[in-house]
Amino acid sequence: CEPTPLPAVVGADLGVPSRSGTVRYGNLDHAASTPALAAVKQAVDTALGSYASVHRGAGWASRLTSAWYEQARDEVARFVGARTCDEVVFTRTTTDSWNLLARVLPADAVVLAFESEHHSTLLPWGPDRTVRLPVPSSIDDALARLDQALATRPAPARLVVLSAASNVTGEVWPVERFAAVAHAHGARLAVDAAQLAAHRPIDLGRWDADYLAFSGHKVYAPFGAGVLVGRQDWLDAGSPYLVGGGATRSVTQFATSWQTGPARHEGGSPNVVGAIALAAACATISGHWDAIVRHEARLLEQLRSGLRSVPGVRLLSIRDGDEDGVGVVAFTVAGLDPALVSQVLSWEHGLGVRDGKFCAHLLVDRLLDERPSATAVRASIGLGTTPEAVDRLVVGLRRLVEHGPLDRWAHDGTAWVL
Ligand code: PMP
Repeated sequence: CEPTPLPAVVGADLGVPSRSGTVRYGNLDHAASTPALAAVKQAVDTALGSYASVHRGAGWASRLTSAWYEQARDEVARFVGARTCDEVVFTRTTTDSWNLLARVLPADAVVLAFESEHHSTLLPWGPDRTVRLPVPSSIDDALARLDQALATRPAPARLVVLSAASNVTGEVWPVERFAAVAHAHGARLAVDAAQLAAHRPIDLGRWDADYLAFSGHKVYAPFGAGVLVGRQDWLDAGSPYLVGGGATRSVTQFATSWQTGPARHEGGSPNVVGAIALAAACATISGHWDAIVRHEARLLEQLRSGLRSVPGVRLLSIRDGDEDGVGVVAFTVAGLDPALVSQVLSWEHGLGVRDGKFCAHLLVDRLLDERPSATAVRASIGLGTTPEAVDRLVVGLRRLVEHGPLDRWAHDGTAWVL
């Protein structure tokens, strides 16, 4: 039967400068940001044609834009399988969503997080009320550690935060099992779906998780819009996140009272076009899950086996021998600085990868034997990745390992330069 087509992305044939002139960009950096979908570009073009400020005026453009904005909220709710008790708040990014949730946490709440978390998930709660759990070695180890920590850390309110997929290793965690452990102890679970949302369906209701966040720029929409979805009670009881117009119910000389619902935290003129773009991305990818999952599974297999065939390449993983993951692979190349490897891949082969510690210092240090200076290269796939780009990566790495860089690179103290 005919394979389902993949949704088109913008800039699929982007040319980039390289050692041998302009070459087609090989996008292996989707974990950082994804290219925009063609459907998103179209939605943005339409919105830019007639937008006005939302929830502020009686004029036709304002009413139309307000309707678009609320439809975008509904679309996100559908995309994540939100329940009736959940609110969808538009934010700027995943980082912003977690800072918002940190603002509304009950004052005596304790937060539990594994040290394998991205800094945006680990740090916003503040050091005094965050319990850090060591990087786990398996799913069962993680569940047991969490169970034990919850049993020994009573508090009036507790929140467990967990990334559904790691931004370093791509490993996927069974969210529903973590939710069950958290709830058995009366704690709540917040799920960071920044690395999952573009790659696998989300189902907040089936997972029985309490909060969820992700960013538009990692689901094929532009920068500047993200979401926080989750249970109303803390969101409605906590202090408004962005204090200003739109968040207030009434202001007198003596008192200010605040809205409940998403408006409480969306003070000022919201990023309507960003919300429309994000919702268009959600609508498009949720109509193509089969094709997306199949495309990425094939590319991930090609990427992993190709990398394993290159002498000296070591793939990083949190869990031994358990390969369930999205298409994010971090690796080292024996004897070569990851920063040089990524420069060479860019300059000699037109490939976009990332190097460093990926805002997950504790995890990368742990995976690289606690050497604080240790970093890795990360290749990550998505709708902007072709099998040819993965081949180019493998061929480029093999050539680099066997012959070294073709040019004379020098480190100037901060970066590799020619
Ligand atoms: N969590 C995870 C797992 C991530 O990968 C990222 C981005 N690398 C973030 C949070 C932060 O996302 P943003 O930069 O959009 O806030």
